[in-house]
Amino acid sequence: MEKNINADLLERRKKVVSNGVGIFVNTTAESAKGAIITDVEGDEYIDLGGGIGVLNAGHCPPKVVEAIKQQADKLLHSCFHVSMYEGYIKLCEKLVEILPHGESTKVMLTNTGVESVENAIKIARQATKRPAVICFSDAFHGRTLMGMSLTSKVNYKMNCGPFAPEIYRIDYPNFYKRDNELNEDDFSVQEIKKLKKFVRNYVDAKSVAAIVIELVQGEGGFNIAPKKYIELLRDFCDKHGIMLIFDEVQTGFCRTGKWGAYEHYGINPDLSTWAKSMGSGLPIGCVIGKAEVMDAAEPGTIGGTYLGNPVCCAAALATIEVMEEEKLNERADKIGKIFMDRFKEFQKITPFIGDVRGIGAMVAIEFVKGPNSKIANAKFCSAFVKKCLEKKVILLKAGKAKNVVRVLSPIVITESEIEKALQIMEETLKELTKGLE
Ligand code: PMP
Repeated sequence: MEKNINADLLERRKKVVSNGVGIFVNTTAESAKGAIITDVEGDEYIDLGGGIGVLNAGHCPPKVVEAIKQQADKLLHSCFHVSMYEGYIKLCEKLVEILPHGESTKVMLTNTGVESVENAIKIARQATKRPAVICFSDAFHGRTLMGMSLTSKVNYKMNCGPFAPEIYRIDYPNFYKRDNELNEDDFSVQEIKKLKKFVRNYVDAKSVAAIVIELVQGEGGFNIAPKKYIELLRDFCDKHGIMLIFDEVQTGFCRTGKWGAYEHYGINPDLSTWAKSMGSGLPIGCVIGKAEVMDAAEPGTIGGTYLGNPVCCAAALATIEVMEEEKLNERADKIGKIFMDRFKEFQKITPFIGDVRGIGAMVAIEFVKGPNSKIANAKFCSAFVKKCLEKKVILLKAGKAKNVVRVLSPIVITESEIEKALQIMEETLKELTKGLE
């Protein structure tokens, strides 16, 4: 009998890896290129998850791999606090150029998304000398203590408390889920009024250091904050001296058709947080901010042994180069439109798709119980993702109720790969819908 290497690996994993390290998709990876992952048995999968939004420039872009190899030969580590190196500075110069936050912008490098969030909060607290932070329902900001405290979904933090104090949560401006007929602008005004009421009842605006928001919620289900809401939120923060932080960890680096989602809004945050696709898989992220805010951090209060490691800096610089050369912002719009148009067609095939939404190549399908219903249909979503995986398309779920399928594919994915994946999705939708209507 042929040996099942995938199953064998899973068995070995079960013996030595903590159960707490979740399995989101039950596949293996031996190698990968572009948008294709080859598993340990040699089967090929079309990757629409991109290792959770990390591979906008594709799996193993040759230029990035080469830059990593060259840097590895020269310098693996010296610690930027001890012996500085050009790669760190060059990367910060590049980030300031492509992601300006006003007149003068500064950067600190981190290893991960959640570290970016942690540091942004530390900087905001130092800049304002205030303790409180306001965050949102359905938010995801990572898995450290501060990350979990800011994260909404309780499943991610089961029995992990007590959480960080001085964290206050308000409703995310989820236009699709509104329970009235307001238009987007009036809805935004209504939600900001709720915030104003909140700071009268629960936390004094004068003790709020920061409001942290994802412009498009990632894990929360690709919910897009209305433009008007963000404009009003900016005004609110300015009025009360609160730092506005955009968490761009999932939205950054070409995903929405821009370097950052904030460009769609024409609003500068005081601070922003980045990671994921910045290094094509190597652990690197950053906090970017207005220079005077970034400089409010006392020397020695932010940093760490590995932050901005030379190899990761080389990977990030090469990744940004690939994104520029291959015009991935334009390509994100192009592929996003292909997905979006087809997903809208899917709505005609099945009554179980309540909403299709997106921005650039960040596109999602929300599964519901039936026509005109907004009630989550996690069962349908789960069966859909499972069946697509059997047909070798990797999809990731999102949303509090796990009823959203999101596209985070490499942006370099080819049109024929997209078509193949879409055909599989369409066929699966038809199969699942048959008999259920
Ligand atoms: N913020 C957002 C918006 C994210 O989507 C994530 C990861 N999904 C994080 C923070 C945490 O990033 P990391 O896993 O790199 O710590």
